[in-house]
Amino acid sequence: MAHRPYIVGNWKMNGSRAMLTEARAIDRGAQRCPDVQVALAPPFPFLALLREETSNIGIGGQDCHTAAKGAHTGDVSAAMLADIGADVVIVGHSERRRDHGETDAIVKAKAEAALAAGLGVIICVGETLDERDAGQAEAVVGGQVDASLPLVQGAAEAAALGKLSLAYEPVWAIGTGRVAAVEDVIAMHASIGARLVAAFGDAAAKVRILYGGSVNGENASALLASPGVGGALVGGASLTADAFLPIVAAA
Ligand code: PGA
Repeated sequence: MAHRPYIVGNWKMNGSRAMLTEARAIDRGAQRCPDVQVALAPPFPFLALLREETSNIGIGGQDCHTAAKGAHTGDVSAAMLADIGADVVIVGHSERRRDHGETDAIVKAKAEAALAAGLGVIICVGETLDERDAGQAEAVVGGQVDASLPLVQGAAEAAALGKLSLAYEPVWAIGTGRVAAVEDVIAMHASIGARLVAAFGDAAAKVRILYGGSVNGENASALLASPGVGGALVGGASLTADAFLPIVAAA
């Protein structure tokens, strides 16, 4: 089953009511590209507003807790995201691994919570520059993939794998303007794909693998045309419609 390319904008800790204008423009642009699946992940305060203001794009959280509810001040559960109409949640972004000490085990539990709530989930993985320079990139990313994949048991759950995406985001390429070489992206996506087959068998074909890290309107077509690249997770270039829509159009 071939997926539509999936282009997800991660606003990180950027956004305001004024930026709803950009979201509306992105929504109108997405309507003109029905062959591309588009989503935006704004900070939590703007999620419900974006849901109300858009109809052609998915809306996503940038994190969720492992529990459905309870005494976890400041946290948001996957069930809450689903309740306000979100479609997807990003888990394990390198900025959360760095700033909040998220381990692969936590990321895995978050991914399981997201799927249990009926949300799509994007699990982020990626190596640092030191790890790449040491020739460890595939081993590091492979270890993250193996340890953060949700446990999926039985045929019904395997069917839910269509809701799962992996995002390969080399840490050194995030927000730096330094995009990974296309051949390195292809190699890493193939390596991640092999790990998915080992974990899920034939059902692994349902899982999309996105690339993230300094994707923009100029480099998007080469990246998105590469074998094994099912879409892009876009940070800086998702903040305005002018920067984001050329990436959608390139998909
Ligand atoms: P960037 O961020 O596009 O600004 O490099 C990507 C990401 O962190 O998801």
